[in-house]
Amino acid sequence: MRYISTRGAAPELSFGEAMMTGLARDGGLYVPQVVPVMTHDQIAALAGKSYEDIAFAVMQPYLGGFFGDDEFKGLIAKSYSGFNHAARAPLVQLAPNHFLLELFHGPTLAFKDFAMQLIGQMMQAALDKTGERITIVGATSGDTGSAAMEAFRGLANVEVFILYPHGRVSPVQRRQMTTPTEPNVHALAIDGDFDDAQAHVKAMFNDFDFRDGVRLAGVNSINWARVLAQVVYYFSSALSLGAPHRAVDFTVPTGNFGDIFAGSIARKMGLPINRLVIATNQNDILDRALRTGTHYTNGVKPSISPSMDIQVSSNFERALFDAYGRDGAAISDLMAQMATGGFTLSQGAFHTLRESFASGRCDEPETLSTIAQTYARTGEILCPHSAVGVHVAQAHLGAAPMITLATAHPAKFPDAVETAMGSRPALPPHLADLMERPERVTRLPNDLKAIQSLIRERIAQR
Ligand SMILES: *Cc1c(COP(=O)(O)O)cnc(C)c1O
Repeated sequence: MRYISTRGAAPELSFGEAMMTGLARDGGLYVPQVVPVMTHDQIAALAGKSYEDIAFAVMQPYLGGFFGDDEFKGLIAKSYSGFNHAARAPLVQLAPNHFLLELFHGPTLAFKDFAMQLIGQMMQAALDKTGERITIVGATSGDTGSAAMEAFRGLANVEVFILYPHGRVSPVQRRQMTTPTEPNVHALAIDGDFDDAQAHVKAMFNDFDFRDGVRLAGVNSINWARVLAQVVYYFSSALSLGAPHRAVDFTVPTGNFGDIFAGSIARKMGLPINRLVIATNQNDILDRALRTGTHYTNGVKPSISPSMDIQVSSNFERALFDAYGRDGAAISDLMAQMATGGFTLSQGAFHTLRESFASGRCDEPETLSTIAQTYARTGEILCPHSAVGVHVAQAHLGAAPMITLATAHPAKFPDAVETAMGSRPALPPHLADLMERPERVTRLPNDLKAIQSLIRERIAQR
């Protein structure tokens, strides 16, 4: 199994190399050269199996032997042992044909734990073999940062720097990043928005002196291994509802397009998925692109679902690569146009994307009313991101069972939940004293050079 860049001008890599590299050296994202297909019988044989067994079957074909089978099974087992639900990703029912996939039972209470715990185990195993040290720099709209710190804190050969937009994450999200005490994890509050933070991370990868000097590695969803880990719960949930004998639909609260892109990979692998619905908040560039064929940014408007306050969705590049017939030069050209605000999709690409994805948006009042209504009808408390998903899913219910992804625990966003339904959800016991723990954070201007010199200094001190 080889991995190629969406911009067509970086070397082909193995799974292990693609995982440790993150962003390709031509600025592109790695994707598998061929998506392995599972037969109907192979999928049917997974019915009733544990999450871990399904994870092994789905991901093993992508490894190209980078980990032995027993070693990989051990890494999967360790990754999910800290989750506080035996099913790992349980389904609950919201309405006659509508189900919620609860992806918030991991240690930091968001779906990011599914991929980050596994990538933490896999990177550690790879580094143990070579004795190498790496520096992880990641941008977060709130949940990736804490999930990465949780996965890498205390490791001897990894230094982790997380850039988050100052003042634009929830207090619980912020504290999850500023309260770990291990000296190898660093929270950096940037005076900018998520798109700025993500652009700085990409710029660091494109600065080869810096990249090679600090041995930069990435854990944002530009990292293929993260997308891969997220393919698993599409299988586990669809199997629970009768796949492959019947098809299902999914609605996915979307920001950087990593999670829903994983769903499109599951479908390419043979899982019968009818519709994949992109749900956006008021930052609706993807919904507009799918309705109009024009992909233009118009500035991030902070919302009550902050993890989706994104206008430049990195992983959309992977979907564009397929929609443009895997033409790396065409993708390079589109991404250059992003620097001046956006681009218009070709007719062919627009058609392909609309065949692959449906979409909808949910504004702020609709988010609040969905939280209140869902609680009244079912007793389920939704986080605001999951509420965006449920609202959009309700407009797309059809003959097949609809599965909406619940991407975070409501207690991460107590203010929004309280506004919607009048009471504050409690944090689970392992985080009960979070609001009392001392914080450690460095505030930085929205300036690449300042961020790079701080990272260099901190590494030199260690
Ligand atoms: C990251 C995140 C999203 C968006 O997921 P993408 O893979 O970036 O599209 C949605 N909801 C929550 C709670 C998140 O943390």
